[in-house]
Amino acid sequence: MILSPYLHASLDMLGIAACEYDARLEAVGWNNTFLQFFPEDDGEIYVGEPYADNLVRFYRCRLSPEEMPDVERYIAEGVARHENQTQPFEFIHNGRRLRASSLRAPEGGRVRLWQRLDAEHRTEAVPELVLPVFEALPFIPDGATILDAADRIVAANDAFRQLYGLPADRPVVGCTLDDIIAWCWRGDSPAGAWRAAIRNGLRYDGAPFEIELPGQRWLRVIARHGTGGIGFFTHADITAAKRQHIELVEAKAALQRANDELAKLAGTDALTGLANRRAFMAFLAAEARIARPLSLLAIDVDHFKAINDRFGHLVGDACLKMIGSIVAKQASGPRRLVSRIGGEEFGVVLGGASLAEAHRTGLAIRAALAHAPWRSLHPALDRATISIGLCTAKGPVDEDMLYGCADEQLYAAKRNGRDRIESRPLAGTRRTA
Ligand code: GH3
Ligand code: MG
Ligand code: MG
Repeated sequence: MILSPYLHASLDMLGIAACEYDARLEAVGWNNTFLQFFPEDDGEIYVGEPYADNLVRFYRCRLSPEEMPDVERYIAEGVARHENQTQPFEFIHNGRRLRASSLRAPEGGRVRLWQRLDAEHRTEAVPELVLPVFEALPFIPDGATILDAADRIVAANDAFRQLYGLPADRPVVGCTLDDIIAWCWRGDSPAGAWRAAIRNGLRYDGAPFEIELPGQRWLRVIARHGTGGIGFFTHADITAAKRQHIELVEAKAALQRANDELAKLAGTDALTGLANRRAFMAFLAAEARIARPLSLLAIDVDHFKAINDRFGHLVGDACLKMIGSIVAKQASGPRRLVSRIGGEEFGVVLGGASLAEAHRTGLAIRAALAHAPWRSLHPALDRATISIGLCTAKGPVDEDMLYGCADEQLYAAKRNGRDRIESRPLAGTRRTA
């Protein structure tokens, strides 16, 4: 015995495997970690066993059936290495990456130690599949998986386990990505269409696709398939970028809503909620460009000053609101706009309406006003009337001329006794532009 039992136990505590050989290359002693790293020796190795016999078991684990006829050569090389090795070397065995050192003892024996390099970056593997890329797995900072022709995991690195929150005892070899994500979502009601994302993502080799995990986490997966049926997937956590993107999209939508609201407010009359003068002029200008009839009603409340003076401005305001809603009810429709263009004046644009149609609308407004519940505004308020100036043109028309014409008719209505409609068609005023 070269090392004391205490030293063997101490090395166990550090997770270092130890096995000693004497000068005749026969086994002398080993620790528990050695049996962990080389489970094929458990119950097989014995004091005095020739090193070459040990190597037979070692290579049976590693070599494919086709390579087995060469096992004698491998053993001879292994014995030579055992005798001559001075520098540590590394290899993967049973899915573990091991660094081996072999020191010559003073009496001619050897102490061999194995340190596991991938404890934090453990690689799960099918032992017979040993590829260069397989050895690289632990060194890939992203999650990485190697897959067989049916996209079942053959090997995965530790970063992969961490990303998907897979505990050490949860096997991944043999699972598809679908299995892993279904496991992640277990117990949660699955949000998002991850299954479709995977199905679609796997159709496009090398194109990144995103998968949502519970807890609002996102992973970006890139799947590549080699010619030999082997697949290689990388998995990166893009949660931070995704959240930033979502916040940006939400902020943009909020800004758009705020802008829409501002634009609406900019065109809205605060008292009645109808379009204001600005929106009225814009709508009128747009309608005036179209080649079809266009009618405009200019409405002014009769003796409104007297209503204000008698009942106060608050009743006056309520009166304007009631008039506004009655006009809107009687005159609204497609290609129409009812607006309060100022004070106690309203404007109604009737796109496509002939003089006769517009006249009917004016009459309907007056009739509705006659039956409005004025007394609900003030017990002594029995009615409010309006004067209407109507002008109709064949579009396209100069909107200022049309507006001027309707205004003239409004003044005529006032002159002619109020509570009435005056109208005329606007002829020969086609805009040239
Ligand atoms: P006419 O029949 O000739 O149109 O007589 P009128 O009294 O309606 O005409 P005038 O233009 O002299 O008076 C309009 C009044 O409308 C004066 C103004 O105080 C009132 N007015 C304008 N805007 C508002 C408002 O927002 N609220 C209230 N309560 N009154 C308003
Ligand atoms: Mg007025
Ligand atoms: Mg008035």
